[in-house]
Amino acid sequence: MTNDHSEGTTPDYTNKLTMKAPEVSLGIVKPHAYKDREEIKYMIRDSGLAVPFNKDPYRISRAQAQTHYAEHKERSFYPKLIDMITSGEVELMIVEGEDAINRLSILTGRTDPREADPGTIRNRFGDKTGMIMNNAFHRSDSAKSARREILLYWDRTELPGRILGILDTVEDF
Ligand code: ADP
Ligand code: MG
Repeated sequence: MTNDHSEGTTPDYTNKLTMKAPEVSLGIVKPHAYKDREEIKYMIRDSGLAVPFNKDPYRISRAQAQTHYAEHKERSFYPKLIDMITSGEVELMIVEGEDAINRLSILTGRTDPREADPGTIRNRFGDKTGMIMNNAFHRSDSAKSARREILLYWDRTELPGRILGILDTVEDF
């Protein structure tokens, strides 16, 4: 007796075994670029990443801004950075996908919009007259940062198990 599965070959599970776990990153459209938020979100989705959750409009409080940018508090531009990110409405986005942190960083581009490659968010929408701060978009720089930042703006009860599961695979910091 024969059937289609008795040829002595092993099914090819290569794709499943090599598929990376999904990641999440926090994206923020900065106040000066708020008018461009739909185009920015389109660029992200067009690159193959998903934006399953957003908050728009959102006003970042000074306390949140100080926590968010704590690593920069000794930098000369820190007071202006806090003023900038709290100066108007922003859109917050949870960006999800395979290798999302690295892919969103590449799509965002270099910190200084004048150095950001063509086709990146910061090249298109950042200030290229020398106001480095106004570089249109924030993205998390690591999985640990993504967890810390997402939980700064979302309560756990607002997020489904799928997202919490991704966040909680990140080792404690
Ligand atoms: P990135 O956002 O590319 O990770 P940093 O973490 O170095 O950059 O800085 C955080 C934010 O602070 C930047 O996105 C930018 O808005 C602002 N910033 C960074 N460097 C400068 C600078 N030299 N002058 C003014 N603002 C800056
Ligand atoms: Mg950074």
